[in-house]
Amino acid sequence: MAIINNRLNPEQYSNNFNDIHPPFETKDAALVEANRCLFCYDAPCIKSCPTSINVPKFIKQISTDNIKGSAHTIFSSNIIGGGCSKVCPVEKLCEGACVYNLMEEEPINIAKLQRYSTEKAIKEKWPLFQRKASTGKKVAVIGAGPAGLSCAHVLSREGVDITIFEKESKGGGLMTYGIAAYKVTPEFCEDEVNYITSIGGIEIKYNQELGKDISLAELQQQYDSVYLGIGVGLARQLEIQGEELQGVEDAITFIYDIRTKGYSNVAVGDKVAVIGMGMTAIDAATQAMRLGAKEVTLIYRRTQAEMPCTEVELNIAKLDGCNIIWLATPKEIIGVNGKVTQLVCSIIQLGEPDASGRRSPVESGETFTMDIDMVIKAAGQMPFEELVTNTQLGNSKGKITIDNTCQTNIKGVFAGGDCVNGGKEVVDAVQAGKEGAAAILEYIQLS
Ligand code: SF4
Repeated sequence: MAIINNRLNPEQYSNNFNDIHPPFETKDAALVEANRCLFCYDAPCIKSCPTSINVPKFIKQISTDNIKGSAHTIFSSNIIGGGCSKVCPVEKLCEGACVYNLMEEEPINIAKLQRYSTEKAIKEKWPLFQRKASTGKKVAVIGAGPAGLSCAHVLSREGVDITIFEKESKGGGLMTYGIAAYKVTPEFCEDEVNYITSIGGIEIKYNQELGKDISLAELQQQYDSVYLGIGVGLARQLEIQGEELQGVEDAITFIYDIRTKGYSNVAVGDKVAVIGMGMTAIDAATQAMRLGAKEVTLIYRRTQAEMPCTEVELNIAKLDGCNIIWLATPKEIIGVNGKVTQLVCSIIQLGEPDASGRRSPVESGETFTMDIDMVIKAAGQMPFEELVTNTQLGNSKGKITIDNTCQTNIKGVFAGGDCVNGGKEVVDAVQAGKEGAAAILEYIQLS
């Protein structure tokens, strides 16, 4: 067994990482789907979207071939509506709420229709929004991820001059660096960021990290307000023996490497164990398989009823050939010559519900051992606690605390998205960015 790169040929990589949700092949196909919509009064699909996109309206606009109008409807609520159409777990959001489910029929393919309009708008660079003349007000945004970009776009539309400070060399945040490449390509993410900033008044300064290259105190002096959309990103450790062995990696780094180094440059084991059952675990497991691993096993300490990923995501993993072991948790990683060779797992029984409302995992005392050569840890992400504490920001275990106006304990400093909620969907971060922008407009007296 070995952890090696370049397991496949270019054609195999390309096939394996092909778009998992292909767009409508023809305009007629989009029109047929749009015309299935019942344009419900008080539509549940709107209510289940965190950004409240007017779904029946944008679908009606598609059905009348008003694609620009449709894209405008989507982007007015969610400027990252293009990316969200590719990465949102729509089965638990808009499509899950579609009334067709009650009739036991296929829900409207809302994501595909949303993609139909937004991709055209981004590709054709349609200028759908006009920025007001500059007011002279300046806001610094930390992080060019979904929350930061969403906040920046709303503010820029109102004539605020925005500088975004981004620690990576590209914008998009989680979309660019933290999601499976077969869901959304780096090229699309770049186009989307360029489309958002094309409104004007938004400058992104790359390779600028809070606490290293810039300080909050400096930004407070130079800008009328500051918005923090720094996300989360530290991998939760397993805290078991053998975690330091060669062949143990965290899922965030593994996915980051796939997104930045190119498929053939990312090494993967023959037999891979992925710890966790959230979206990141699924993305790591499926991509390990698609990079050419011979066997990938997802290990989760609870059952399917408690798993954080959706059934659709679980099915992607199953279709990719990943094995699933429920009710098990890693106990020890064994190695020979410093390299991973085996994983010992405890068998779990479920006890009383814990703080999350899910039944808590209790070790049964029995174990089993698997021969593996790679462990990918995807047992959750943690906030940047040290950074937040060093910056004197009020927080709860590293999650920045805000009041009902999105303001932190520091006057004029606002925050939103994953750094506040600990990590939700991209679409939740977009909404947080909008709410932060509305609060900042009030604070700088532009609303
Ligand atoms: Fe159309 Fe379904 Fe929304 Fe009704 S619930 S408006 S049918 S997408």
